[in-house]
Amino acid sequence: MADHSAQIHFVLVPLMSPGHLIPMVDIAKLLAHHNVVVSIVSTPLNTPRIKSAVDFAVKSGLKIRLLELEFPAVQAGLPAGCENMDSLPSRDAIKNYFEAAAMLQEPFEKLFQDLKPRPRCIISGKNLAWTVETARKFKVPRLFFDGMGCFSFACTQSLHNSRIHETVSRFEPFTVPNLHHEIKLTRAQLPEALNPGSEDLIDVRNKIVAAESISDGIIVNTFEELEQDYIQEFKQTKGTRVWCIGPVSACNKSETEKITRGNPNPPTKNKHPCLEWLDSQEPKSVVYACLGSICGLSATQLIEVGLGLESSNSPFLWVIRGGEKSKQLEKWIQEEKFEERTNGRGFIIRGWSPQLLILSHPSTGAFLTHCGWNSTLEGICAGKPIITCPLFAEQFINERLIVDVLGSGVSVGVKAAVAWGIEEKSGLVILREDVKNAVEKAMENSQEAEKRREKAVEIAEMAKKATAEEGSSYLSVKALIRDVIQETSF
Ligand code: UDP
Repeated sequence: MADHSAQIHFVLVPLMSPGHLIPMVDIAKLLAHHNVVVSIVSTPLNTPRIKSAVDFAVKSGLKIRLLELEFPAVQAGLPAGCENMDSLPSRDAIKNYFEAAAMLQEPFEKLFQDLKPRPRCIISGKNLAWTVETARKFKVPRLFFDGMGCFSFACTQSLHNSRIHETVSRFEPFTVPNLHHEIKLTRAQLPEALNPGSEDLIDVRNKIVAAESISDGIIVNTFEELEQDYIQEFKQTKGTRVWCIGPVSACNKSETEKITRGNPNPPTKNKHPCLEWLDSQEPKSVVYACLGSICGLSATQLIEVGLGLESSNSPFLWVIRGGEKSKQLEKWIQEEKFEERTNGRGFIIRGWSPQLLILSHPSTGAFLTHCGWNSTLEGICAGKPIITCPLFAEQFINERLIVDVLGSGVSVGVKAAVAWGIEEKSGLVILREDVKNAVEKAMENSQEAEKRREKAVEIAEMAKKATAEEGSSYLSVKALIRDVIQETSF
């Protein structure tokens, strides 16, 4: 059969949040590796975050383009320059942010109609409902990219159906019904959609759920071998085609790809100082601590994390967001001479960390994460044990996957989720003593800890196989392209 894929054009419309945008660029690369043309929609202030990665991909021969649309921040009531979820000034701004994202429809359609080769498919973030209408207008399938895994879907689905969490008090553990594993959660740990306490974003959430139900297929960042039973269930419940093509981060092989990935200020020279520091540390000795890209934890909470790391016996690399968001924490760091105190044993990264490079560094021994789905998969790929410190959304469920199902993690024991955007009102959910204990447990030389380390390596091996040529995820990307070609005959 002749290879017509060079004429096949996919258009990707990501939700502008680092946790969505970054894997979408990975998806673009995965598709382009199969010789299709891929365009990624971006906005002026998001482009720098992904441009180096795209430029590098293009230099390597991949056919990826950036399509830039003005982001109507001000028209939607946001401050000028607020183009990404990580720059939202407050929780109230989430509504405006989604309004602005919806306003992209008209300019996008104008751009879309002139694109060459004529696009065959739109892949959008699951929350961008308007892309359904656009795809119908241009008679192409609209697939959505689900930023979460299938285990978390199964848990939330089970709770939606059983409502068991409504029968218990806030901190009373209950077993999630009808799962393949015995999973215990509390109501305080559940995603906001299941938590009757937070109703301000109900409209936003309802729209997202409605948009999810209309789709010509779903792309999931997971791999068959990781959560097989739950993927089967996901496919049955969704009743549409599902392609599991992850972990998508595995497509970043070179140092340049890893260091530029998602970085809003890509470095001009390749070596990040934290990597030089890591080079000076003992193998598998360092705990890498990063709580994601949109973490708004209060300074009081972050100080607990810092003190917990300090009082553990391990060297640590600690990422703090930097800038305005970390002003109070920064003040504490200076006043307490935290860096001097931990000099040699601790290293602080302010702003963006090259996460993939750190995770794959031989000195890194464990990953303390908030259990965002991307970070979870990246930790898995690196074959390192995970110290789980979930904060919100489905992160407590991902924690259970890591600790109870996969057996490669230690929990910090966070008792309650914080409400995103108003974290300071959530009280103290992370305690220094708990951080210290979890770090020590993960790093110790016990049989139990060794077993976790072995498990982590085993799972990483599975992920490597899945993404290698002829692996399950590789074949899934091929199937996705084939399905789109068959469906669009122009
Ligand atoms: N990330 C990074 N450096 C940072 C912070 C985050 O590279 O300093 C990347 C991380 O590798 C992951 C993404 O940003 O790919 C965060 O996504 P995740 O789903 O883990 O969490 P979110 O930020 O959406 O809460």
